[in-house]
Amino acid sequence: MKAGEPGPHPVLIDPPDLSRWEPSCTGVPYVHELESGRPGPEVLVTALVHGNEYSGAIALDAFLASRIMPARGRVTTAFCNMQAYQRFDPGRPDDSRFVDEDLNRLWDRSRLEGPGGCSELRRARELLPFVERCTHLLDLHSMHESCAPLLVTGTLPRNIAFARQLRCPGQIIIDQGHADGVRMRDYQGRAGPDAARIALLLEAGQHWEPGSVTHAANALMRFLIQAGSLNHAGVPREWLLPDADATPAVEVTHPVVARSMDFAFLGRFSGGEVIGKAGTAIALDGGEPVVTPYDECVLVMPSLRQLRPGVTVVRLGAIVGEIGI
Ligand SMILES: [Zn+2]
Repeated sequence: MKAGEPGPHPVLIDPPDLSRWEPSCTGVPYVHELESGRPGPEVLVTALVHGNEYSGAIALDAFLASRIMPARGRVTTAFCNMQAYQRFDPGRPDDSRFVDEDLNRLWDRSRLEGPGGCSELRRARELLPFVERCTHLLDLHSMHESCAPLLVTGTLPRNIAFARQLRCPGQIIIDQGHADGVRMRDYQGRAGPDAARIALLLEAGQHWEPGSVTHAANALMRFLIQAGSLNHAGVPREWLLPDADATPAVEVTHPVVARSMDFAFLGRFSGGEVIGKAGTAIALDGGEPVVTPYDECVLVMPSLRQLRPGVTVVRLGAIVGEIGI
């Protein structure tokens, strides 16, 4: 580790044993289908797209073990990057995000149908039929830094509306995705403006804090109820947090991309901070100040753990108003 580089956060939750979910009737390891036998939504819930983010996998494991069945439609669950997850080492917990490349930057047809066969591309191709067919996608992630949960919606109004109706704690993040590749949530197979598909990504909190499991379970159950898969009465109360108040939505306007390895924030930012005045310096990059471009600027997921030139180290967002229900 370089001097000044942040050390890993403590690992406060144990990685779950998921081996019992490897065999599957779907023919794809770690992917399971729960059929109601009645018409209804085609829901896909994914965890471990990043191999070291297992709070969502703990929630999904508990959901499968509970034998709660959908009342309508079908619920498919997928533990995604198991190759990376199986390398998880609590002494080097940041190292198992992926094996060869980020599984959440591969979701465009040119990558999926093109050459190459790295570990993540092979797994993405296995998962693609389930991503293609779903009407509702919830992708469970967590964050490097300790921060309130985020529901990432993309820019389509139907996803923003669905997110606000969930009444999960935290913030709604409206964004365009990432320049370095397409997320599963942003896959355009059925997710374009004219389609009806709902697709959300949850950042449940810090990767290895117990509260992230609580937020992942809450979002999972609320998503299944809102999609119409489950009746509210069929959900054990311990899975659900109280309804959150109306949630501010933040529209991401600028990525801050590091230009050098000599990048440092000018504060202990963990995300969600609102910087009041335009022109406030939030970081130094090669000695040059990085300043906020407008008043009331929100810092979205600041992190230096992947620092290298060209990497986004924080995104800046504008508050687009209190979202009422
Ligand atoms: Zn992630």
